[in-house]
Amino acid sequence: MPVLPVRSASFQAAVAALAVFLCGFLVWTASANPVTGSAQAAETRTGQQDDAGQPSHDEAPFDGKQGTQSPEQPGAVVPAAGTTGAPGTTPPGQVPAILQSKAGRTDPGKWVALTFDDGPWNTYTTQILEVLKQYDIKATFCIVGNQAKALPSLVKAVVAEGHTLCNHTMTHDEQLAKKSPDQIRAEMQHALDAITAAAPGAPVPWYRAPGGNWSPEVKQIAASLGMRSLGWTVDTLDWKKPGIDKILETVDKQLGPGGVILMHDGGGDRAMTIDLLHKLIPKLQAEGYQFTVPVGAAG
Ligand SMILES: [Zn+2]
Repeated sequence: MPVLPVRSASFQAAVAALAVFLCGFLVWTASANPVTGSAQAAETRTGQQDDAGQPSHDEAPFDGKQGTQSPEQPGAVVPAAGTTGAPGTTPPGQVPAILQSKAGRTDPGKWVALTFDDGPWNTYTTQILEVLKQYDIKATFCIVGNQAKALPSLVKAVVAEGHTLCNHTMTHDEQLAKKSPDQIRAEMQHALDAITAAAPGAPVPWYRAPGGNWSPEVKQIAASLGMRSLGWTVDTLDWKKPGIDKILETVDKQLGPGGVILMHDGGGDRAMTIDLLHKLIPKLQAEGYQFTVPVGAAG
């Protein structure tokens, strides 16, 4: 047993008061706008990624059925175009505007949006749809035009299940921000055409830049085609297959209320992502999160 020196009552009271203050400060620090913290971290990584080049990955080459879309480069959080409460700028306790649904979910509750990029993809898109159905969750799918063209029935299935569509360009050109306005517009328009051909009449309210390589011009052209820019606040890096525990750790670190989680249903073997969902969804539900889609998607 450690021997504590005897102090006066007033000294002990002062120590107790200081301890209470410090605990309160720590709790406040930990809870204050976790989304901002992750956004800043991600932006820092984005800044570093210019020199890092393309990520290495082991995706299967294009086989004429599935595609060669390489997945996202390490993290980038992009404020949604035309919103005032994008990740990174949201005051504590407020839901980022991109997650305020038309259904009136403007309360500062624990809302989270699941997003899946690079599909549709054989096997995995269907499996993800099954998991989402099992938990009665609506998500957002960022569709690659060439994939929609190759697998139109899967786009139709995504829409039929009530999920939201996002345009992820025709060819998943990660250098699109450097291209001419005409080329940028063509990539987006061709993807829209492919999606519409697969699922006539389905709205495509969102655009997400491949590799997270955004520019003001890209956002502007997307907006001119009726799409808002969709970033993310949690980068699971599921395409790197880091292991489910590692991904859950990342989510713990980066997720806050109003968060947008980036995963992939396409681009390669996504068996780990399927397994992840079976752990991630119950975990988030136990933490009090409710699942939603970004604003602009409903109705
Ligand atoms: Zn992608």
